[in-house]
Amino acid sequence: MASNVHFLMIPLMCPGHLIPMVDMAKLIAQHSATVTIVITPRNAARFGEVLHRVFASGHPIHILQLQFPATEHGLPEGCENVDDLPTFKLTKNFFNASAKLQEPLEDIFNDLKPRPSCIISDKNLTWTADVAKKFEIPWVIFDGMSCFTQLATHNLCVSKVHERVGDFDPFLLPGLPDEITMTKSQLPGLFNPGKSPEAKEITSTRGEIRATEIGAYGILINSFEELERRYLDEFRKVKQNIWCIGPFSLSNKNDLDKAQRGTNGSITNHESISWLDGQKPGSVVYVCLGSLTRLEPPQFIELALGLEESDSPFILVLKGGSRSEEIEKWVKEDGFEKRVKGRGVLIHGWAPQVLILSHPSIGAFLTHCGWNSTIEGVCAGVPMMTWPQFAEQFFNERLVVEVLGSGVSVGAKSVMYLGEESTGVVQVKRGEVCKVVKRIMDDGIEGLERREKAIYFREMAENAIEEGGSSRLNLKLFIEDIMLHTKKGLGR
Ligand code: UDP
Repeated sequence: MASNVHFLMIPLMCPGHLIPMVDMAKLIAQHSATVTIVITPRNAARFGEVLHRVFASGHPIHILQLQFPATEHGLPEGCENVDDLPTFKLTKNFFNASAKLQEPLEDIFNDLKPRPSCIISDKNLTWTADVAKKFEIPWVIFDGMSCFTQLATHNLCVSKVHERVGDFDPFLLPGLPDEITMTKSQLPGLFNPGKSPEAKEITSTRGEIRATEIGAYGILINSFEELERRYLDEFRKVKQNIWCIGPFSLSNKNDLDKAQRGTNGSITNHESISWLDGQKPGSVVYVCLGSLTRLEPPQFIELALGLEESDSPFILVLKGGSRSEEIEKWVKEDGFEKRVKGRGVLIHGWAPQVLILSHPSIGAFLTHCGWNSTIEGVCAGVPMMTWPQFAEQFFNERLVVEVLGSGVSVGAKSVMYLGEESTGVVQVKRGEVCKVVKRIMDDGIEGLERREKAIYFREMAENAIEEGGSSRLNLKLFIEDIMLHTKKGLGR
């Protein structure tokens, strides 16, 4: 359909940004448009196998590898992804190193065939806007957030209501179709930057990102219209060219693609999957707080003991970062591992999340509400327990709990700041974890209603990406828009 149109995709190399971009690249290439994804060698090794399979099946998808100047920017050798950072205090260094990809990319740009028609970039990589400008092609952004978040962010930027409230005073989020209250302490960093020196430094970067994104030609969103229609309609009043083309994770049809999402290991036979095969349908609670959250040992212990107390079978994904050893020692020495043997599975490190979530034995998902995990939970058709950690995750919690009605909040009160987790504060106690698990797994009317809602949204998600579905249509419209743009030589 669109073989003369070529999308140059530039992801932020961080799992929550790169994984959906890879899925998106596959979806676009399946419409016969050429796609080149710009990544570094280690990311190519980690994410490339899936793309090679798409290429082998006849779709025009390519990887352009650029060397990442990690050590020149104070990062350890081989650190090419945000989840490789030894501490999130180095995030700014990572962004500086990423910006150095501009020059080699510009050098190679005119050799790319056909000439790229459009840049699809992570919005955080503001330098890509300069590349698009230089080569006179549209700059389309992807930031991996929901329509709810887009609208709430826009309205807060305009109204500045958060500047007139105390950190823990509930206030109404302005201009939303539903009455949603939050506190400033739950808002993302743009509105609630934290007090450390690093936080202050990042604040100016956030301002620059916001100012640049306003000039984007359009926005691609990993959501579908039926999920957040009223939020999308309102957002369309303030922003043109919004294409909801998700859920991207549904582009992974077979077990191998699901298992290799975000990792190069072949883990279709992951021990958690064989264990799940032996569990009752809808009985297991899956607990994973994303790719970046590193729970402090005291908080991890409360979570683990809460799950133990709940009596439900569970899978718990553990990413302790620099405190891993301490946590793993506790798991063994406290006897936790022994006590939950057979009933609980611990995954140390990377979990094949989409594969696990699609297993019929999964009955609920305890999530940190990163947008990818949230929409993956929607696609799984299971109710969610929401425990936001950082960034815009409290917005996603509100969407799931208050708008969709398919989740229950664990009760977190404020965001964490990546790199500043060592506050020693335990936000959620074991009793609260246990209570929320019992509530979500309950077979009473409230529990059944939540389950029905979750199944309803899953069916809608599946329909959205099928032929005739809203996201499939929006993707066609997006590609056609860029084709037209290219034909007319607009912007050149
Ligand atoms: N993910 C995964 N296994 C893990 C942790 C995360 O597959 O052990 C995937 C998850 O499915 C999602 C992404 O990594 O696609 C995380 O993105 P999200 O927006 O949920 O949260 P973030 O990691 O950015 O906080």
